[in-house]
Amino acid sequence: MELEELIQETKVYNCLECGECTANCPIAWFETDYSPRVIAKRALEGFIDLRDEKIWSCMSCQLCSERCPSKVDYPTFMWGLRAEALKAGVEEEAYIRELEQVFLTGEGDKDIGIVKEIVAGKSTIKGQDGGIVTSMLTAGMEKGLFERAIVVHRQDGFRAQAIVAENEDDIIKARGSKYQFSPTVERLVEAILEGGKKRIAIVALPCGIYGIRRIQRFYPDVELYTIGLFCFENFYYEMLRPIVSEILEVDLGRADKIEVKRGKFVVHIAGESKACEVKELESAVRGSCLFCTDFTARLADISVGSVGSPDGYSTVIIRSKKGEELFGLLKDLARTKVDREEVVELARLKKKRGMEELKKLGS
Ligand code: SF4
Ligand code: SF4
Ligand code: SF4
Repeated sequence: MELEELIQETKVYNCLECGECTANCPIAWFETDYSPRVIAKRALEGFIDLRDEKIWSCMSCQLCSERCPSKVDYPTFMWGLRAEALKAGVEEEAYIRELEQVFLTGEGDKDIGIVKEIVAGKSTIKGQDGGIVTSMLTAGMEKGLFERAIVVHRQDGFRAQAIVAENEDDIIKARGSKYQFSPTVERLVEAILEGGKKRIAIVALPCGIYGIRRIQRFYPDVELYTIGLFCFENFYYEMLRPIVSEILEVDLGRADKIEVKRGKFVVHIAGESKACEVKELESAVRGSCLFCTDFTARLADISVGSVGSPDGYSTVIIRSKKGEELFGLLKDLARTKVDREEVVELARLKKKRGMEELKKLGS
């Protein structure tokens, strides 16, 4: 796609230069030389440098497009610029590898990132699968490893809402996957700017972890523990709920638990389980997810997900010293064999899809 066409498709030509995007962008709050408004303006003036490192700053959170009065689809515009940059010979993984070297230590795996250890485990706390994330957070807060944790609650049915947890109750309430994006990084930035507590844990999706690592160098005095969740794609709640209602005849807002397993979207509700193919829900998938290539949250201290483990267990990838500290908090952990190949396979599949979608955008 030519730059002109990309500008048309993503409505950049509608830009009013109001600056709402830059004002609401968590990355721009720290990377002060990064401005969505300025990049849009440069594109309109024909001055885009595809080798500019700034086109890799965006973490696709969509906060800018949600607040843009002109409905500019800025995240897709950035993906389009990246597609052009790839065509021009820029290496997609260069920015991830650079950050891996700063924050992580272990064996490099081209599909799932840096790995110190990979295990399948189940804690004594009830959670989405093995309860690993909830257990690490409650134990970490109890032992004073961190004072706050950024987690995601259910609100208004099954809508995801990022919050700052200050105690064990807040953490327990965040149990279970929501399969939606929620601005955890925005909450983290607010918590940091508010000052006071300096030791913070955050649970985030791969895109969020990428954003956190990009801005982390700007607050070296904050002790951060990052827990990444495996993510193939996520959904817009407003779109997902009616589709699920139509296909499965259940109200997602009343579900006890939802899970995505082996290509199925499963809703557990009132003692029953109803499932459909994930593919049937594709019209509710977040736009940015199609281009995303990171399945295992490659930049997190520790990554957790169900793929690669038997039912009731979680796969855990430890990637740093802090990841080891978090994992060390898990007492009475039941372990079993992890199917690393299954994780690798899905990571490859996601990367393949992302690269193909990017190529389409760049063709
Ligand atoms: S918020 Fe929208 S209209 Fe305003 S500067 Fe950003 S892209 Fe342009
Ligand atoms: S998608 Fe998020 S990170 Fe990217 S420019 Fe918009 S607000 Fe910033
Ligand atoms: S697929 Fe990527 S962009 Fe979408 S929610 Fe997951 S990590 Fe974020």
